[in-house]
Parts: sequence; structure tokens; C-alpha cells
Amino acid sequence: MTLDELIQRVEKARLRRSEHLIVQIVAVTKYTDNLEVLKKLFNDGQRAFGENRVQDMEKKVKGLEELPIEWHFIGNLQKNKINKLLKLNPFMIQSINSFELAEVVNKRAKKPIRCLLEINSSKEPTKHGLEPEKAIDTYLKIKEELPNINLQGVMTIGAHTDDEKEIRKSFRLTYNIFDKLKPYGAKICSMGMSGDFEIAVEEGSNMIRVGSALIKDYM
Ligand SMILES: *Cc1c(COP(=O)(O)O)cnc(C)c1O
Repeated sequence: MTLDELIQRVEKARLRRSEHLIVQIVAVTKYTDNLEVLKKLFNDGQRAFGENRVQDMEKKVKGLEELPIEWHFIGNLQKNKINKLLKLNPFMIQSINSFELAEVVNKRAKKPIRCLLEINSSKEPTKHGLEPEKAIDTYLKIKEELPNINLQGVMTIGAHTDDEKEIRKSFRLTYNIFDKLKPYGAKICSMGMSGDFEIAVEEGSNMIRVGSALIKDYM
């Protein structure tokens, strides 16, 4: 799928939810280390890119330094990689998955950094993220106690199944948490990937992270 085709599909899904919903697209580039692929996407208009490994992100950030790209870190962040990541000055860390991780990032960051709280909305044990029941308390505690964590909202990965009902349920659960956090400044509800972004947008997502379905057409 080209970026144009993706935008058209997002547009239709968005209108099924609300004409007021604006959806941002983060292009996930973890499947390639060919910088030409990223440049092609950039030339098509894409500005936000997502990576889930610090090392891979470092190569791409350095290789594309001259382009005004917004880098989103979306992977599981190991504590020993935090300094390396912060040096890259990412636009946002989407994968704050515990209070403990937030504490360490808060301590190492020299200035506030935009972050999302990752929620394990499908409760799959292999997935990272906070239990939904703890998400609101943890969000508020981070906001109160950790000044360098500039929380902007929540992120989740949908249930890993072909059962649309289950996928929808995990997105709806995350959206409800997001909705309760809006009075506290939450603006971003990041959910939806290649296989389920339309369902996510129908459930209120305003940021999708699309990799495989998009990247293949540019490789
Ligand atoms: C890989 C990844 C994506 C993109 O997944 P696709 O199915 O390839 O679109 C989105 N979010 C996270 C956290 C990822 O790790």
C-alpha cells in the first residue's frame, strides 16, 4: 500500500467515527535499514517515523540528520539503552510501560520528553504495558511526581487474534482509559497497526503506527 492509499483508507475509517477526528500516521520502518526507503516515504509527505530498537533508530537518525523527521520510539525500552535513546532526541517515547521505567527516564532526561503510557489492553502475558486497571493511577502518579515525563496520552497494541470482536474490545478499553485521562491533558490515543488500523480508528484512535502494509511498496 502506498502512503496515498493508506491515507484514503484512514479517511474512510475516520469518517465512520467522526468528521472531527484527525488521525496521525507514524510510519514504522523497522523492517528495513535502507535509508532510501525512508527518503521515498519522506518525499511522499511522511514526517513521523517509528522504530522499536534503539540501535536501529540511531543509524536512521544519523543517516537522515538533514531531514526534519519526527522520531517515535515504540519498542520495549531496556534501562541500559535509555541514555543512548535520549541522546537521539526522539520526538516521543510511546512505550513507557511501568512507573519504574518512567522514573529512570525522568532521572536521565535533562529536559521534559513527550511520552505515552503503554497499556496491555489484551492482557496477553507476552505483551508489555500496564494492566488497564492500574493505568489511570499510574498515569496520574507519573504526571504528579516525574516532571521530565511529559505525558501526552496512551498507546496500545491490539489483541493478537483474527477475532475482530476481541481486537475491538482491546481498543475500546484503551479508548475509555484515554477518555478518562483527557481532563488531565491526554491528547494522543495511539492504536492500530497494519492489520487493524481501521478498527482502531473506528474506536477513536488518533495515531496509528503502520509498518509492513506500507513499507513493502517502498522497498
Ligand atoms: C512493528 C510495530 C508496529 C507496526 O506493525 P505492522 O503490523 O508492521 O504495521 C506498530 N507498533 C509497534 C509497537 C510495533 O512494534
